[in-house]
Amino acid sequence: MYYANKKTVEDLDVAGKRVLVRCDFNVPIVEGQITDDLRIRESLKTIKYLIQKNAKIIMCSHFGRPTKVAPEFSLALVVKRVEKIIGCPVKLAKDSIGADAKALVENIKEGELVLLENLRFQKEETENSPEFAKKLASLADFFVNDAFGAAHRAHASTVGVCKFLPSAIGYLMQKELDTISQAINSPKRPLVSILGGAKVSDKIGVIHSLLNKVNTVILGGGMAYTFAKANGFEIGTSICEEDKLDLAHDIMKQAQEKNVKLLLPTDYVVATGFRNDAEFKTVPVSQIPPDYMGMDIGPQTANTFSKAIRESAGGTVIWNGPLGVCEFPNFAKGTKQLAQTISETDMISIIGGGDAAAAVTQMNLSEKITHISTGGGSCLHLLEGMELPAVAAISIK
Ligand code: AMP
Repeated sequence: MYYANKKTVEDLDVAGKRVLVRCDFNVPIVEGQITDDLRIRESLKTIKYLIQKNAKIIMCSHFGRPTKVAPEFSLALVVKRVEKIIGCPVKLAKDSIGADAKALVENIKEGELVLLENLRFQKEETENSPEFAKKLASLADFFVNDAFGAAHRAHASTVGVCKFLPSAIGYLMQKELDTISQAINSPKRPLVSILGGAKVSDKIGVIHSLLNKVNTVILGGGMAYTFAKANGFEIGTSICEEDKLDLAHDIMKQAQEKNVKLLLPTDYVVATGFRNDAEFKTVPVSQIPPDYMGMDIGPQTANTFSKAIRESAGGTVIWNGPLGVCEFPNFAKGTKQLAQTISETDMISIIGGGDAAAAVTQMNLSEKITHISTGGGSCLHLLEGMELPAVAAISIK
């Protein structure tokens, strides 16, 4: 097990104690509305457990990437939804380690909940400042980390704080680690991995690691054009990493040597600009015009990829990154077709957060997916076989 020697929340004697819980309430917000509250819903189990154990619960989270204190990054935008999902009142502190937080925490009763203001309002959070971590830790007797989405980052509230408090991982973190590491290390085969998203450079380590584990790799999204170019095709104005052409060659060669089926797009939807309303058409990979950019996989490719998924019924699929610019509806078709196919195929399906997860949620297919991860970056870390710093920092049993 990934965290075999680490304490979990049930190893702590929390009754009557102050417990600092690192949550991931970094939910997407459009025009003031939360568009996906999965991260809040998934944190419920740990919070409920702590309430039931009569702990005094101090939740903390980051929210967005603020460069200064600003209302659009305040957890005030999230706290009502947290209250609704947990079903209890939550007191929001005006700061994270300041006078208001201290006053609320001092007066907190058993079973009550306080939420500290956005940790990233202090730059010391992302700097993993020991002083900040110490002050945060001084608010509590125990630390529970349930923020899988932030577990790949060594910040004060994920790693630093563990130096100053007995710590454990929460139920959400356990579920993510169990599901993803099981799928990657002892999968039901065949094991298929779908990788998309903007850049090859973000996923080099993951591709290399997966080539030792999977039966099939499906590549789409922006990174596919670097492979198309490496194969000698003209790719117009499509996104391309010129310095990764050799690497793309190397990956294709390795796949062959390791007997891994590597599927690349054979047609594309190309457009005159990076906009939803740009003029677009479908072309084979050999005919991308010089003034067009690839925006999505074409219908032939979507069918080939879908067929590969259906042929892997009974196995496992792990998907990270969209197959096209799916935030523009005209270029979301490939991503949506794959989401639909996966939802209809009898297999273990893991979607590693971000755009692909959003597509599944928008299409109301979440129920038919085995696991939608709350953390795209952390999921990639696990696929790459890397240790998550936030888990490494947790107390040994
Ligand atoms: P990532 O964060 O690496 O998963 O990348 C997600 C981003 O990849 C999305 O915002 C997409 O717009 C982008 N993307 C997907 N396909 C393409 C493409 N063909 N050209 C440019 N960007 C793309």
